[in-house]
Amino acid sequence: ISSKLPAVGTNIFSKMSALSSAKGAINLSQGFPDFKPDEGLLQRASTALLQGNNQYAPMTGLPSLRDAIARLIARHYGRQVNATEEITVTSGASEAIFNAITALIQPDDEVILFDPAYDLYEPAITLAGGVCRRVTLTAPDFRPDWLEFASLLTEKTRLVIINTPHNPTGSCWSAEDLDALWQAIKSQDIYVLSDEVYEFIHFSGQAVSVHKHAELSARSFVVSSFGKSFHLTGWKVGYVVAPVALTEELRKVHQYVTFCTATPLQQALAEHLVDVPESSAELAGFYQQKRDVLREALASSRFDLLPCDGTYFQLLDYRAISELDDVAFCEWLIDEVGVAAIPVSVFYQDAPQDQRLIRLCFAKEEHTLVEAAQKLSQL
Ligand code: PMP
Ligand code: GLN
Repeated sequence: ISSKLPAVGTNIFSKMSALSSAKGAINLSQGFPDFKPDEGLLQRASTALLQGNNQYAPMTGLPSLRDAIARLIARHYGRQVNATEEITVTSGASEAIFNAITALIQPDDEVILFDPAYDLYEPAITLAGGVCRRVTLTAPDFRPDWLEFASLLTEKTRLVIINTPHNPTGSCWSAEDLDALWQAIKSQDIYVLSDEVYEFIHFSGQAVSVHKHAELSARSFVVSSFGKSFHLTGWKVGYVVAPVALTEELRKVHQYVTFCTATPLQQALAEHLVDVPESSAELAGFYQQKRDVLREALASSRFDLLPCDGTYFQLLDYRAISELDDVAFCEWLIDEVGVAAIPVSVFYQDAPQDQRLIRLCFAKEEHTLVEAAQKLSQL
Protein backbone atom coordinates (compact mmCIF):
# COMPACT_ATOMS: atom_id res chain seq x y z
CA ILE A 1 0.00 0.00 0.00
CA SER A 2 1.08 3.55 -0.39
CA SER A 3 2.59 4.36 3.02
CA LYS A 4 1.99 7.64 4.82
CA LEU A 5 5.26 7.03 6.67
CA PRO A 6 7.58 5.45 4.06
CA ALA A 7 10.75 6.31 5.98
CA VAL A 8 9.57 4.72 9.24
CA GLY A 9 10.43 1.16 10.28
CA THR A 10 10.22 -0.63 13.64
CA ASN A 11 11.58 1.85 16.13
CA ILE A 12 14.98 1.49 17.71
CA PHE A 13 13.64 0.78 21.22
CA SER A 14 11.61 -2.25 20.13
CA LYS A 15 14.48 -3.44 17.94
CA MET A 16 17.22 -3.19 20.56
CA SER A 17 15.13 -4.62 23.42
CA ALA A 18 14.13 -7.59 21.25
CA LEU A 19 17.75 -8.22 20.16
CA SER A 20 18.89 -7.85 23.76
CA SER A 21 16.51 -10.47 25.11
CA ALA A 22 17.12 -12.83 22.18
CA LYS A 23 20.87 -12.74 22.99
CA GLY A 24 20.51 -12.60 26.80
CA ALA A 25 22.33 -9.25 27.00
CA ILE A 26 22.07 -6.68 29.82
CA ASN A 27 19.50 -4.26 28.46
CA LEU A 28 20.59 -0.65 28.91
CA SER A 29 18.94 0.35 25.63
CA GLN A 30 15.21 1.18 25.92
CA GLY A 31 14.58 3.62 28.77
CA PHE A 32 12.73 1.88 31.61
CA PRO A 33 13.52 1.04 35.25
CA ASP A 34 14.37 -2.56 36.19
CA PHE A 35 13.21 -2.00 39.80
CA LYS A 36 9.79 -1.83 41.45
CA PRO A 37 7.74 1.34 41.86
CA ASP A 38 6.57 2.43 45.33
CA GLU A 39 4.81 -0.48 47.09
CA GLY A 40 2.06 1.78 48.50
CA LEU A 41 1.24 3.05 45.04
CA LEU A 42 1.00 -0.51 43.72
CA GLN A 43 -1.33 -1.37 46.63
CA ARG A 44 -3.53 1.59 45.74
CA ALA A 45 -3.68 0.48 42.13
CA SER A 46 -4.58 -3.04 43.18
CA THR A 47 -7.34 -1.74 45.50
CA ALA A 48 -8.59 0.60 42.79
CA LEU A 49 -8.81 -2.34 40.38
CA LEU A 50 -10.53 -4.70 42.82
CA GLN A 51 -12.86 -2.28 44.57
CA GLY A 52 -12.78 0.83 42.52
CA ASN A 53 -14.25 2.13 39.35
CA ASN A 54 -13.24 0.14 36.28
CA GLN A 55 -15.33 2.08 33.80
CA TYR A 56 -14.49 5.10 31.61
CA ALA A 57 -12.92 8.05 33.37
CA PRO A 58 -14.03 11.58 32.46
CA MET A 59 -12.55 12.48 29.06
CA THR A 60 -10.27 15.15 30.52
CA GLY A 61 -9.02 13.01 33.43
CA LEU A 62 -10.23 12.23 36.97
CA PRO A 63 -10.92 15.56 38.74
CA SER A 64 -8.95 14.35 41.79
CA LEU A 65 -5.89 13.66 39.61
CA ARG A 66 -6.15 16.97 37.76
CA ASP A 67 -6.39 18.76 41.14
CA ALA A 68 -3.32 16.89 42.39
CA ILE A 69 -1.39 17.85 39.22
CA ALA A 70 -2.38 21.52 39.66
CA ARG A 71 -1.08 21.43 43.26
CA LEU A 72 2.17 19.77 42.11
CA ILE A 73 2.74 22.52 39.53
CA ALA A 74 1.93 25.27 42.04
CA ARG A 75 4.36 23.80 44.57
CA HIS A 76 7.25 23.17 42.19
CA TYR A 77 6.96 26.09 39.83
CA GLY A 78 4.71 28.63 41.53
CA ARG A 79 2.37 28.54 38.51
CA GLN A 80 -1.38 28.52 39.10
CA VAL A 81 -3.20 26.43 36.50
CA ASN A 82 -6.91 25.80 36.25
CA ALA A 83 -7.32 22.04 36.83
CA THR A 84 -10.62 21.92 34.93
CA GLU A 85 -9.75 23.94 31.86
CA GLU A 86 -5.99 23.73 31.45
CA ILE A 87 -4.98 20.17 32.44
CA THR A 88 -5.74 17.03 30.40
CA VAL A 89 -4.72 13.53 31.49
CA THR A 90 -3.51 11.41 28.56
CA SER A 91 -2.33 7.86 27.91
CA GLY A 92 1.32 8.69 28.37
CA ALA A 93 3.19 11.79 27.29
CA SER A 94 3.21 10.18 23.84
CA GLU A 95 -0.52 10.65 23.40
CA ALA A 96 -0.32 14.24 24.62
CA ILE A 97 2.45 15.01 22.11
CA PHE A 98 0.59 13.33 19.25
CA ASN A 99 -2.62 15.20 20.13
CA ALA A 100 -0.92 18.59 20.38
CA ILE A 101 0.77 18.17 17.00
CA THR A 102 -2.39 16.82 15.35
CA ALA A 103 -4.52 19.61 16.80
CA LEU A 104 -2.19 22.37 15.66
CA ILE A 105 -0.42 21.40 12.44
CA GLN A 106 -2.00 21.93 9.03
CA PRO A 107 -0.48 20.84 5.69
CA ASP A 108 2.77 22.74 4.91
CA ASP A 109 3.04 24.25 8.38
CA GLU A 110 6.66 24.23 9.55
CA VAL A 111 7.79 22.83 12.89
CA ILE A 112 11.22 23.54 14.36
CA LEU A 113 12.89 20.66 16.21
CA PHE A 114 16.29 20.30 17.78
CA ASP A 115 18.40 17.55 16.23
CA PRO A 116 18.76 14.94 17.84
CA ALA A 117 15.08 14.68 18.78
CA TYR A 118 12.94 12.03 20.44
CA ASP A 119 11.70 9.71 17.71
CA LEU A 120 7.96 10.34 18.02
CA TYR A 121 7.84 14.01 17.01
CA GLU A 122 8.65 13.75 13.33
CA PRO A 123 6.18 10.97 12.34
CA ALA A 124 3.35 12.86 14.06
CA ILE A 125 4.28 16.03 12.14
CA THR A 126 4.51 14.11 8.86
CA LEU A 127 1.07 12.52 9.39
CA ALA A 128 -0.38 15.99 9.93
CA GLY A 129 1.20 17.18 6.65
CA GLY A 130 3.72 19.41 8.41
CA VAL A 131 7.38 19.94 7.54
CA CYS A 132 10.27 19.60 10.03
CA ARG A 133 13.14 22.08 10.25
CA ARG A 134 15.96 21.08 12.55
CA VAL A 135 18.57 22.98 14.56
CA THR A 136 21.62 20.74 14.95
CA LEU A 137 22.98 20.15 18.46
CA THR A 138 26.51 18.80 18.72
CA ALA A 139 28.58 17.01 21.33
CA PRO A 140 29.76 17.38 23.99
CA ASP A 141 27.29 19.89 25.43
CA PHE A 142 24.56 20.06 22.76
CA ARG A 143 23.88 23.79 23.27
CA PRO A 144 21.24 25.33 20.98
CA ASP A 145 22.54 28.00 18.59
CA TRP A 146 19.90 30.75 18.68
CA LEU A 147 21.21 32.40 15.52
CA GLU A 148 20.74 29.16 13.62
CA PHE A 149 17.28 28.88 15.19
CA ALA A 150 16.35 32.38 14.03
CA SER A 151 17.50 31.53 10.50
CA LEU A 152 14.91 28.73 10.32
CA LEU A 153 11.92 30.91 11.21
CA THR A 154 9.58 31.65 8.30
CA GLU A 155 6.02 32.86 8.05
CA LYS A 156 5.00 29.19 7.88
CA THR A 157 6.55 28.34 11.25
CA ARG A 158 3.72 27.22 13.49
CA LEU A 159 5.30 25.19 16.30
CA VAL A 160 8.61 24.69 18.11
CA ILE A 161 9.19 21.43 19.99
CA ILE A 162 11.61 21.58 22.89
CA ASN A 163 12.71 18.91 25.35
CA THR A 164 14.63 19.61 28.53
CA PRO A 165 16.09 17.60 30.26
CA HIS A 166 16.87 16.13 26.87
CA ASN A 167 16.55 12.59 25.57
CA PRO A 168 18.96 11.23 24.28
CA THR A 169 21.78 13.61 25.29
CA GLY A 170 21.10 14.25 29.00
CA SER A 171 21.69 17.97 28.44
CA CYS A 172 19.55 20.63 30.15
CA TRP A 173 18.61 24.09 29.01
CA SER A 174 19.13 27.24 31.07
CA ALA A 175 16.58 29.95 31.85
CA GLU A 176 18.47 32.08 29.27
CA ASP A 177 17.67 29.50 26.58
CA LEU A 178 13.96 29.78 27.29
CA ASP A 179 14.27 33.53 27.13
CA ALA A 180 16.15 33.35 23.84
CA LEU A 181 13.37 31.15 22.49
CA TRP A 182 10.75 33.63 23.65
CA GLN A 183 12.58 36.60 22.13
CA ALA A 184 12.91 34.75 18.81
CA ILE A 185 9.23 33.79 18.47
CA LYS A 186 7.30 36.45 20.36
CA SER A 187 6.46 38.63 17.37
CA GLN A 188 5.03 35.70 15.37
CA ASP A 189 2.02 33.46 15.81
CA ILE A 190 4.11 30.47 16.91
CA TYR A 191 3.33 27.88 19.60
CA VAL A 192 5.59 25.71 21.74
CA LEU A 193 5.36 22.06 22.70
CA SER A 194 7.59 21.54 25.71
CA ASP A 195 8.36 17.89 26.41
CA GLU A 196 9.27 17.90 30.11
CA VAL A 197 8.88 14.21 30.91
CA TYR A 198 12.25 14.25 32.77
CA GLU A 199 11.36 17.43 34.69
CA PHE A 200 12.29 15.96 38.08
CA ILE A 201 15.47 14.17 36.91
CA HIS A 202 18.11 16.89 36.78
CA PHE A 203 21.43 17.10 38.56
CA SER A 204 22.59 20.72 38.71
CA GLY A 205 20.14 23.01 40.44
CA GLN A 206 16.49 23.37 39.55
CA ALA A 207 15.37 22.24 36.13
CA VAL A 208 14.25 24.90 33.75
CA SER A 209 10.56 24.68 32.88
CA VAL A 210 8.17 26.55 30.64
CA HIS A 211 5.89 26.57 33.70
CA LYS A 212 8.21 29.23 35.15
CA HIS A 213 8.16 31.43 32.05
CA ALA A 214 4.86 33.32 32.03
CA GLU A 215 4.97 34.54 28.42
CA LEU A 216 6.04 31.20 26.97
CA SER A 217 3.53 29.24 29.03
CA ALA A 218 0.73 31.38 27.58
CA ARG A 219 1.64 29.85 24.17
CA SER A 220 2.70 26.36 25.20
CA PHE A 221 1.62 22.79 25.66
CA VAL A 222 3.72 21.48 28.58
CA VAL A 223 3.81 17.69 28.68
CA SER A 224 4.88 15.35 31.48
CA SER A 225 4.63 11.66 32.36
CA PHE A 226 4.04 9.69 35.55
CA GLY A 227 5.94 6.90 33.81
CA LYS A 228 9.21 8.76 34.43
CA SER A 229 8.40 10.39 37.76
CA PHE A 230 7.11 7.24 39.51
CA HIS A 231 8.98 4.43 37.67
CA LEU A 232 5.82 3.27 35.86
CA THR A 233 6.59 3.39 32.16
CA GLY A 234 4.09 0.58 31.50
CA TRP A 235 1.16 2.48 33.04
CA LYS A 236 1.22 5.09 30.26
CA VAL A 237 -0.34 7.92 32.26
CA GLY A 238 0.78 11.41 31.34
CA TYR A 239 -0.67 14.88 31.19
CA VAL A 240 -0.57 18.12 29.29
CA VAL A 241 -0.98 21.66 30.57
CA ALA A 242 -1.99 24.39 28.13
CA PRO A 243 -4.01 27.62 28.08
CA VAL A 244 -7.75 27.21 27.55
CA ALA A 245 -7.79 27.86 23.79
CA LEU A 246 -5.00 25.33 23.14
CA THR A 247 -6.50 22.80 25.57
CA GLU A 248 -9.85 22.99 23.79
CA GLU A 249 -8.22 22.08 20.48
CA LEU A 250 -6.09 19.33 22.02
CA ARG A 251 -9.15 17.75 23.70
CA LYS A 252 -10.96 17.55 20.35
CA VAL A 253 -8.22 15.14 19.26
CA HIS A 254 -7.85 13.37 22.62
CA GLN A 255 -11.54 12.49 22.79
CA TYR A 256 -11.28 10.56 19.52
CA VAL A 257 -7.79 9.08 19.92
CA THR A 258 -8.29 7.41 23.31
CA PHE A 259 -11.22 9.33 24.90
CA CYS A 260 -9.76 8.68 28.36
CA THR A 261 -6.96 7.03 30.32
CA ALA A 262 -7.18 3.93 32.59
CA THR A 263 -9.45 4.91 35.50
CA PRO A 264 -7.97 2.78 38.33
CA LEU A 265 -4.44 3.95 37.50
CA GLN A 266 -5.55 7.58 37.59
CA GLN A 267 -7.26 6.95 40.93
CA ALA A 268 -4.15 5.35 42.43
CA LEU A 269 -1.95 8.24 41.26
CA ALA A 270 -4.38 10.86 42.59
CA GLU A 271 -4.40 9.27 46.05
CA HIS A 272 -0.63 8.80 46.02
CA LEU A 273 0.03 12.43 45.10
CA VAL A 274 -2.10 13.60 48.04
CA ASP A 275 -0.29 11.36 50.54
CA VAL A 276 3.32 11.68 49.31
CA PRO A 277 3.34 15.07 47.62
CA GLU A 278 7.13 15.51 47.76
CA SER A 279 8.20 12.17 46.34
CA SER A 280 9.04 13.66 42.95
CA ALA A 281 11.56 16.02 44.58
CA GLU A 282 13.68 13.08 45.72
CA LEU A 283 13.93 11.68 42.24
CA ALA A 284 16.93 13.76 41.17
CA GLY A 285 19.10 12.52 44.06
CA PHE A 286 17.99 8.95 43.45
CA TYR A 287 19.04 9.03 39.80
CA GLN A 288 22.15 11.13 40.40
CA GLN A 289 23.46 8.29 42.53
CA LYS A 290 22.81 5.78 39.75
CA ARG A 291 24.48 8.05 37.21
CA ASP A 292 27.54 8.30 39.45
CA VAL A 293 27.72 4.54 40.00
CA LEU A 294 27.71 4.00 36.24
CA ARG A 295 30.21 6.78 35.56
CA GLU A 296 32.61 5.55 38.23
CA ALA A 297 32.37 1.98 37.03
CA LEU A 298 33.27 3.16 33.51
CA ALA A 299 35.93 5.67 34.56
CA SER A 300 38.88 3.45 33.62
CA SER A 301 37.30 2.15 30.40
CA ARG A 302 38.23 3.39 26.92
CA PHE A 303 34.86 5.06 26.52
CA ASP A 304 34.73 8.82 26.81
CA LEU A 305 31.86 9.85 29.13
CA LEU A 306 29.93 12.92 28.03
CA PRO A 307 28.41 15.29 30.60
CA CYS A 308 24.99 14.20 31.93
CA ASP A 309 22.92 16.88 33.68
CA GLY A 310 19.52 15.22 33.53
CA THR A 311 17.33 12.28 32.36
CA TYR A 312 18.39 8.70 33.05
CA PHE A 313 20.61 8.45 29.98
CA GLN A 314 24.42 8.57 29.76
CA LEU A 315 26.17 9.10 26.42
CA LEU A 316 29.45 7.32 25.66
CA ASP A 317 31.86 8.21 22.87
CA TYR A 318 33.49 4.99 21.56
CA ARG A 319 35.87 6.49 19.00
CA ALA A 320 38.88 5.05 20.84
CA ILE A 321 37.39 1.55 20.57
CA SER A 322 35.85 1.04 17.15
CA GLU A 323 35.44 2.49 13.68
CA LEU A 324 32.00 0.92 13.21
CA ASP A 325 29.04 3.23 12.78
CA ASP A 326 26.88 3.43 15.89
CA VAL A 327 24.10 1.08 14.71
CA ALA A 328 26.63 -1.61 13.76
CA PHE A 329 28.56 -0.98 16.99
CA CYS A 330 25.40 -1.48 19.10
CA GLU A 331 24.63 -4.75 17.31
CA TRP A 332 28.22 -5.86 17.85
CA LEU A 333 28.00 -4.89 21.56
CA ILE A 334 24.96 -7.11 22.07
CA ASP A 335 26.61 -10.06 20.29
CA GLU A 336 30.17 -9.78 21.57
CA VAL A 337 29.95 -7.98 24.91
CA GLY A 338 26.43 -8.79 26.12
CA VAL A 339 25.29 -5.18 26.68
CA ALA A 340 22.49 -3.44 24.76
CA ALA A 341 22.69 0.32 24.06
CA ILE A 342 20.98 2.78 21.73
CA PRO A 343 22.86 4.32 18.75
CA VAL A 344 22.48 8.11 18.95
CA SER A 345 22.45 8.73 15.18
CA VAL A 346 18.88 7.36 14.97
CA PHE A 347 17.63 10.47 16.78
CA TYR A 348 19.23 12.74 14.18
CA GLN A 349 18.09 13.72 10.75
CA ASP A 350 21.64 14.87 9.95
CA ALA A 351 24.05 13.24 12.37
CA PRO A 352 27.56 14.77 12.30
CA GLN A 353 29.71 12.35 10.24
CA ASP A 354 32.49 11.97 12.78
CA GLN A 355 30.20 11.48 15.80
CA ARG A 356 30.37 8.01 17.41
CA LEU A 357 27.95 7.97 20.35
CA ILE A 358 25.83 5.40 22.16
CA ARG A 359 23.22 5.93 24.90
CA LEU A 360 23.02 3.85 28.07
CA CYS A 361 19.97 3.89 30.35
CA PHE A 362 20.95 3.99 34.04
CA ALA A 363 17.43 3.51 35.47
CA LYS A 364 18.68 0.14 36.69
CA GLU A 365 19.70 -1.60 39.93
CA GLU A 366 23.28 -0.72 40.88
CA HIS A 367 24.47 -4.30 40.44
CA THR A 368 23.10 -4.27 36.87
CA LEU A 369 25.00 -1.06 36.13
CA VAL A 370 28.24 -2.39 37.61
CA GLU A 371 27.97 -5.69 35.75
CA ALA A 372 27.34 -3.90 32.44
CA ALA A 373 30.22 -1.49 33.08
CA GLN A 374 32.59 -4.38 33.84
CA LYS A 375 31.77 -5.93 30.48
CA LEU A 376 32.19 -2.61 28.66
CA SER A 377 35.50 -1.94 30.45
CA GLN A 378 37.03 -5.06 28.86
CA LEU A 379 37.03 -3.35 25.48
N1 PMP B 1 9.21 12.19 25.41
C1 PMP B 1 10.43 11.74 25.75
C2 PMP B 1 11.58 12.64 25.58
C3 PMP B 1 10.58 10.45 26.24
O1 PMP B 1 11.79 10.00 26.56
C4 PMP B 1 9.43 9.63 26.40
C5 PMP B 1 9.52 8.23 26.96
N2 PMP B 1 10.53 7.49 26.59
C6 PMP B 1 8.19 10.13 26.02
C7 PMP B 1 8.11 11.41 25.53
C8 PMP B 1 6.95 9.30 26.10
O2 PMP B 1 6.48 9.17 27.40
P1 PMP B 1 5.31 8.15 27.77
O3 PMP B 1 5.94 6.81 27.96
O4 PMP B 1 4.68 8.71 29.02
O5 PMP B 1 4.36 8.13 26.62
N1 GLN C 1 11.41 6.87 25.77
C1 GLN C 1 12.05 5.60 25.91
C2 GLN C 1 13.52 5.75 25.51
O1 GLN C 1 13.94 6.80 25.09
C3 GLN C 1 11.44 4.52 25.07
C4 GLN C 1 9.99 4.61 24.80
C5 GLN C 1 9.56 3.54 23.85
O2 GLN C 1 10.06 2.43 23.87
N2 GLN C 1 8.68 3.88 22.98
O3 GLN C 1 14.24 4.80 25.61
